[in-house]
Amino acid sequence: MTSFLCRFLQPAGAVYGRKWLLPSTWKNVARCASMFTLSETQEMLLKTCRDFADNELIPIAGELDEKRQYPKEQVKRLGELGLMAITTSEKYGGTGLGYLSYVIAMEEISRGCASTGVIMSVNNSLFLAPIEKFGSDHLKDSFIQPFVSGEQVGCFALSEPGNGSDAGAATTTSQSDGDSWVLNGTKAWITNGYESTAAIVFATMDKAQKHKGFTAFVVPKPIDGLSLGMKEKKLGIRASSTCNLILEDCRIPKGNIVGEVGQGFKIAMMSLDAGRMSIAAQAIGIGQAAFDVAIKYSKERKSFDRPISEFQLIQQKLCDMACKLESARLLTWKAAALYDEGEKVTKEAAMAKLVASEAATFVTHQAIQILGGMGYVQEMSVERHYRDARITEIYEGTSEIQRLVIAGQLLKEVS
Ligand SMILES: Cc1cc2nc3c(=O)[nH]c(=O)nc-3n(C[C@H](O)[C@H](O)[C@H](O)COP(=O)(O)OP(=O)(O)OC[C@H]3O[C@@H](n4cnc5c(N)ncnc54)[C@H](O)[C@@H]3O)c2cc1C
Repeated sequence: MTSFLCRFLQPAGAVYGRKWLLPSTWKNVARCASMFTLSETQEMLLKTCRDFADNELIPIAGELDEKRQYPKEQVKRLGELGLMAITTSEKYGGTGLGYLSYVIAMEEISRGCASTGVIMSVNNSLFLAPIEKFGSDHLKDSFIQPFVSGEQVGCFALSEPGNGSDAGAATTTSQSDGDSWVLNGTKAWITNGYESTAAIVFATMDKAQKHKGFTAFVVPKPIDGLSLGMKEKKLGIRASSTCNLILEDCRIPKGNIVGEVGQGFKIAMMSLDAGRMSIAAQAIGIGQAAFDVAIKYSKERKSFDRPISEFQLIQQKLCDMACKLESARLLTWKAAALYDEGEKVTKEAAMAKLVASEAATFVTHQAIQILGGMGYVQEMSVERHYRDARITEIYEGTSEIQRLVIAGQLLKEVS
């Protein structure tokens, strides 16, 4: 733990000095923090992430978005701060903090740059976490340590062109052949697809068994038989890459199986439970960024000789925005705190993601309204936040799928 503290304290003190955030962000997070009694380490983590977002992400996020440029230097800095492997145990070079710490960090990083947030999220919860939880010692030795520093990133390949929500219907196949597995098929929409140097790929041994035939594999990149599709041109999170992974007789070593044959669907779903808390935090960060701009603007902008913040219709918007963000934060922190206690959080994580992503869509929409014409142009960041927010209702399970998951869990609870 001491080494962790040094890693966090040093950059925070030495590089940044003391810089206050916009008061609204500080107060919201502080209030939530007091309910959950954050440890000293978590308080420092929050401050470090906040300073990093303010000083190193916010100034360049707009440019990265416009150029659709991968934030290579920023991801390396995240690695130096221990944020690319925040829940990975110290034994493997990770930071060894829990999920409450993780969602606190994710919110702040995404407040600074949503693209950087998703890159960090995929590496943490969809790549490193399943390898640490289910992988063999050989996989852990080979595929954890190089991915904690931010020099290399991983990706998670579940979706396919023909099926996203119905992930169990995936048609990518895996066949055993001597010392190898041979993979064939196309994985779609893969975040970090371009920059990653390894992917967790889900494939079926027997399509007739649907999700029961699923197995998870670690595929190193580049490798013969694996090619990348074109980079998707997206509405938001433009500084992160998204592309297809095309597997054509791609031969990987027998030892690169995560967990056991047939365990793939369970591994995917468990990874998504954890990933959804992180996407909820990403959504809150995006919403908070838009809210901070909107409330400040409302006090400065005058109309009919008064600051627009004096109009009750504007106050109502600010109130609704803050309530939605605070509710989402509480649900997300609750899910993460329960997960840290070893609880299964399928329902809680889905609730957090559903509420947070819809809050982000609402808040960023209202932020544009408060800024009027200025909300619609690139000069202010809220148009980017509005575009970035939208994806949080789609990936790692759409809002419709979250509702099905939540209802399914609720019905199970009643005998
Ligand atoms: C930018 C981006 C990044 C992504 N990153 C990754 C990644 O890293 N790895 C990965 O594996 N995938 C990734 N995805 C894929 C993402 O998870 C899927 O897009 C998502 O799960 C939805 O699947 P779909 O696009 O096939 O939509 P569909 O499943 O075709 O759904 C279309 C619509 O129908 C609705 N629908 C579907 N089934 C039902 C139902 N039973 N009841 C009610 N409504 C239903 C959906 O909610 C949606 O509104 C990414 C997607 C995007 C856009």
